[in-house]
Amino acid sequence: MTTQKNPENWRPRTLAVRGGQIRTAFQETCEPLFLTSGYAYDSPEEPESRFKGEAEGYTYTRYGNPTVSVFEARMAALEGAPCARATASGMAAISAVFLASLKTGDHVVAARAMFGACRFVVEDILKRFGITSTIVDGTDLDAWQSAITPATKMLFLETPANPTLAIADIRAIADIASGCGARLMVDNAFASPALQRPMQFGAHIVVHSSTKYIDGQGRAMGGMILCQPDFLTEHLQTFLRNTGPTISPFNAWVHLKSLETLDLRMRAHCENAATVADFLSAQKGVTRVLYPFRDDHPQHELARTQMDGGGGIVTFEIDGGKTEAFALERALKLIDISNNLGDAKSLITHPATTTHSKLAPEARAELGVTDGLLRIAVGLEDPADLCDDLAEALWAMRK
Ligand SMILES: *Cc1c(COP(=O)(O)O)cnc(C)c1O
Repeated sequence: MTTQKNPENWRPRTLAVRGGQIRTAFQETCEPLFLTSGYAYDSPEEPESRFKGEAEGYTYTRYGNPTVSVFEARMAALEGAPCARATASGMAAISAVFLASLKTGDHVVAARAMFGACRFVVEDILKRFGITSTIVDGTDLDAWQSAITPATKMLFLETPANPTLAIADIRAIADIASGCGARLMVDNAFASPALQRPMQFGAHIVVHSSTKYIDGQGRAMGGMILCQPDFLTEHLQTFLRNTGPTISPFNAWVHLKSLETLDLRMRAHCENAATVADFLSAQKGVTRVLYPFRDDHPQHELARTQMDGGGGIVTFEIDGGKTEAFALERALKLIDISNNLGDAKSLITHPATTTHSKLAPEARAELGVTDGLLRIAVGLEDPADLCDDLAEALWAMRK
């Protein structure tokens, strides 16, 4: 087997297609899929030295797998990260970072606009182990700074955040973390490495749900942790090996192959989303449109400093509540009702009754998740068809 070396001067779009590639003796052009749990050895001494860590080589897929390794190497190249470890899902990645590195008495500061399951991990699971947390407005730097205590070990945010697309200042918050000896973990699922590379701004750890834009076609679950070598050896490696949130080599292969088209797809998602956002902002019955690269987004300037595109998500508010939002959803003929995102198919969701339904009404209000708020994960269809579909549905809603 030969591992192709990535020349140092390869640019991101080349790395997305070829980064970390291995070839077997057959010299196949497509990355091989090693659907195997175990590995055989020529002698009893060979596994002995591998288990001692003296020899390189795979021993068991929970510990490592060649297909998974290529996916990790390519993601590390794209994010500009020294180390990467793939996991079974985005939540497996995020929980592993917290549970591998924190202990009783430690403290976490996290942005309020957080993926629902992340909020459960921070506020319920970590709490059971005596790890406390403070939830802050992710856009308020003073709030981050004043939440820090001597016990703070981890800061956590996603940007753009679900569903209001609030932008957090990665560099400023990474500096706050570094200043108190803590680490900043950034959930980069909404932007993907094609649009945003948080380590360039000082983030210590980047996590992904590769289920979303990295897969890009709504097929397979996966996650990724990108970190520094000391975090890997001191915390993550033994935790992952022994607790087993392992990605299936098949899913890793699907996501690895998807990276080859990530840049193209993200450009098209951004273009379509910008078109849909501009269209919605001109419609009767739409009271607010949120899209990071529109000039009316409260943090569009910050968004442009840390992102290469506005992303594929558009959130908007209609003049009405749940009844009107549901009427609009019901009238759509092309856009599917689904809480997933990052698919080639456009998907719409009503956050107040789905992704954010477990929050108390006051918590929803704090986040700006009103009953008239809808989120579209704009897909890769012809944007004119998406606008036609929305126009008809808005007309049906107002009737
Ligand atoms: C989907 C998602 C997750 C969770 O990922 P899974 O792959 O579903 O476990 C975490 N963060 C964000 C921002 C997401 O969109």
